[in-house]
Amino acid sequence: MLISLNNITKVYRSESLAVEALRGITLEVEEGAFSTIMGSSGSGKSTLMNILGCLDKPTDGSYLLKGEDVSRFRKDRLSRVRNKMIGFVFQNFHLLPRTSALENVELPLLYAEEKMSWKEMHKRAREALEIVGLGDRTEHTPNELSGGQMQRVAIARALVTRPSVLLADEPTGNLDSRTSLEIMDIFQQLNREGLTILMVSHEPDIARFSKRIIILRDGVIRSDKPNAARSATAALDAWKDETEMIEEEAS
Ligand code: ADP
Ligand code: MG
Repeated sequence: MLISLNNITKVYRSESLAVEALRGITLEVEEGAFSTIMGSSGSGKSTLMNILGCLDKPTDGSYLLKGEDVSRFRKDRLSRVRNKMIGFVFQNFHLLPRTSALENVELPLLYAEEKMSWKEMHKRAREALEIVGLGDRTEHTPNELSGGQMQRVAIARALVTRPSVLLADEPTGNLDSRTSLEIMDIFQQLNREGLTILMVSHEPDIARFSKRIIILRDGVIRSDKPNAARSATAALDAWKDETEMIEEEAS
């Protein structure tokens, strides 16, 4: 099993109060899965993703990642695991401004344990940008790119280290519907090639492209079901046909 969570809890404490964001999450994710975590705002989705992504530690419970319990790892060891095993995509892209797409994608390689030459880094970053269809935009800075392109750079940056799992927290939250479909099309292609993907979305229209849907409520799993995955490419084609028809009618 790639990921195995057992009774994970997370309590955020401040002086005056304690928030129980996760109240006992038990979950397994096998290699090659493509799952979506859904749930209303405040249900604990980001908290869970941050723990899965080794960006934060649980209060209690165990987290086995490829059989190794990372839940008690100290910060530096956890960040090494993160760099090696996890690709993370955020809603707001988190790209460095005034920095080319290529350099943004190279960044995780600078921190990788496996040292490589500049040449090798450029090559790997270029390949990652090609995978997301941005081979011709390597020198563009984020302000010269659309939202969808920025998210594709962020996906390339997540892929460049060849992670075991891609985690994405509301990856289409800032994108229009067509661009969201393009991102789902990329995710489905990556998953078909064997990449394990776990994403968060509160939109059923996005979740439907994954193979499993997990619903959180108040820090617990309310439902966990397989989903007959639908093709994002087909949805994208239908979307294009429809807009063409509307444009034809308008002209
Ligand atoms: P979601 O992503 O589903 O909207 P979150 O995981 O962000 O939910 O939040 C779950 C709960 O934990 C919410 O009640 C939220 O207010 C609280 N929470 C999240 N992060 C923190 C934090 N850093 N400190 C205190 N409370 C937090
Ligand atoms: Mg969130």
